[in-house]
Amino acid sequence: SGRGRDGIFRSLRPPLVIPTDSNTSMISFLFRNTSSSPNKPALFDSDSGDTLTFSEIKTTVAKFSYALNTQFGITKNDVVLIFAPNSIQYPICSYSIIALGAIVTTANPQYTVRELSKQIEDSNPKLIFTVQELYPKVENFGLPVILLGPESSINGCFSYKDLISKHGLVSELPKVSIRGDDTAALLYSSGTTGVSKGVILSHKNFIAASQMVTIDQRLMGEKHYVHLCFLPMFHIFGFAVILYAQLQEGNTVVSMGKFSFEGVLKNIEKYRVTHLWVVPPVVLALTKQDVVKKFDLSSLKFIISGAAPLGKELIEECAKKFPHVFVLQGYGMTETTTAISLGSPILGPRDSGSTGMLVPGIEALIVSVNTLKPLLPNQTGEIWVRGDSMMQGYLNNPHATKLTLDKQGFVHTGDLGYFDDEGQLFVVDRVKELIKYKGFQVAPAELEAVLISHSEILDAAVVPFPDDESGEIPIAFVVQSSKGCLKEEDVKRFVDEQVAPYKRLRRVIFVNNIPKSASGKLLRRVLVQDIRSRM
Ligand code: AMP
Repeated sequence: SGRGRDGIFRSLRPPLVIPTDSNTSMISFLFRNTSSSPNKPALFDSDSGDTLTFSEIKTTVAKFSYALNTQFGITKNDVVLIFAPNSIQYPICSYSIIALGAIVTTANPQYTVRELSKQIEDSNPKLIFTVQELYPKVENFGLPVILLGPESSINGCFSYKDLISKHGLVSELPKVSIRGDDTAALLYSSGTTGVSKGVILSHKNFIAASQMVTIDQRLMGEKHYVHLCFLPMFHIFGFAVILYAQLQEGNTVVSMGKFSFEGVLKNIEKYRVTHLWVVPPVVLALTKQDVVKKFDLSSLKFIISGAAPLGKELIEECAKKFPHVFVLQGYGMTETTTAISLGSPILGPRDSGSTGMLVPGIEALIVSVNTLKPLLPNQTGEIWVRGDSMMQGYLNNPHATKLTLDKQGFVHTGDLGYFDDEGQLFVVDRVKELIKYKGFQVAPAELEAVLISHSEILDAAVVPFPDDESGEIPIAFVVQSSKGCLKEEDVKRFVDEQVAPYKRLRRVIFVNNIPKSASGKLLRRVLVQDIRSRM
């Protein structure tokens, strides 16, 4: 099972050799092999048709980071917000910021102004990247704005394209001294409890994670992979697993801005995609929808699902439908930069219900929720993980950091699981509050705060409700004031106006009180049981 005498499970994959020292920046690491295949296509934009080779990425990052530094004064440790859909420009902006020793923070384009302002207050960016359509959401923050996308002319904004062409002669990356544990990105996650927090990820985190997640590709020795990226680049999955890890490996990434299932199929055919990174609802669509037959998907070698649980039956049905493809599952979280475990085409035997084996360099404990003692194979407990890809902590939140990252360096995932005798990790449930709607994070604490801000709501609790298509949907238990005459629709509308669409309440149940422990702690589990018994 990979479990040592100390109770720690270790990867059964070959050990990780990271070809760098601890003071390499993730940008120099990204370009370390560029000169061996400078003209190989690295990035395609399936929406605009733009392409960039590896050497063009490097020179574009050089020009753009020069512009950010000289025109906007961006230097080491400054934060810059990217609030935009996927595009070929997204990684260029990220890497240009990071090349200066500055820090990227990313936000979901579906965010409302309220949600965005919380992140801006917390992370304190100096500059915002967005696109024309989203400009109204950022215009009142009093920060300089650079617009991505095709030519645009909004008064007072700067344009990505203009800034690059203005510095056409620059071709050298900035010379900044960067240490491995300097911060490169702040990606937001609610973690095990509370509202969204900035997860501090360092240069070393990204370098290590990129090697962990691509290990099987290196073992297989083949080198021409094409990865489709329709999963959001603002999330760790798009940002690290697909973009950074694959580009540093010399693979090609195709960016897709707006998700449509047919668009995905079309792009697989057009770009001869080999790796399709998905969330469970896309596996469902690939398995069930007839439109799949209309496209030539023969280039596909891997379908890899993550971000939320995927059932054994569905994965097997999907594998049957695509007999020439490895259909695998991975498991990870923002706080671990990328994967903790990943299914492997070369390491057998495998059970399709598992999330695969630990990636190399990750150590894990399965810990009893009651006694906090390490458990044996086939025993279920909380998953704790340690390794070079673990976050540095949460921004401005030492309390939450202490709760999640212990003194031995283990991240307490808030997920429940077990290892079988072959070292396969099964993730079976969650002890943390988090709700996952199609892989997107919905933090109950945030919706509860919105609910109790209503003058006629006295108390509220939000819990997940299982849903075939989206995995889970958020539903609320609400206590209204004695004079209250709120209807379910009123409560839903009140929340809808303040949160991104994927966080919307799907159901509201009025109750007389919310179950609490003697110390006043909300008893979520009781509500979850209540809901399950009503089904
Ligand atoms: P995020 O930080 O948004 O990636 O969310 C991480 C959380 O998503 C994990 O802690 C799990 O609760 C859940 N998750 C990710 N991958 C899987 C998986 N393969 N199976 C079950 N849950 C998963």
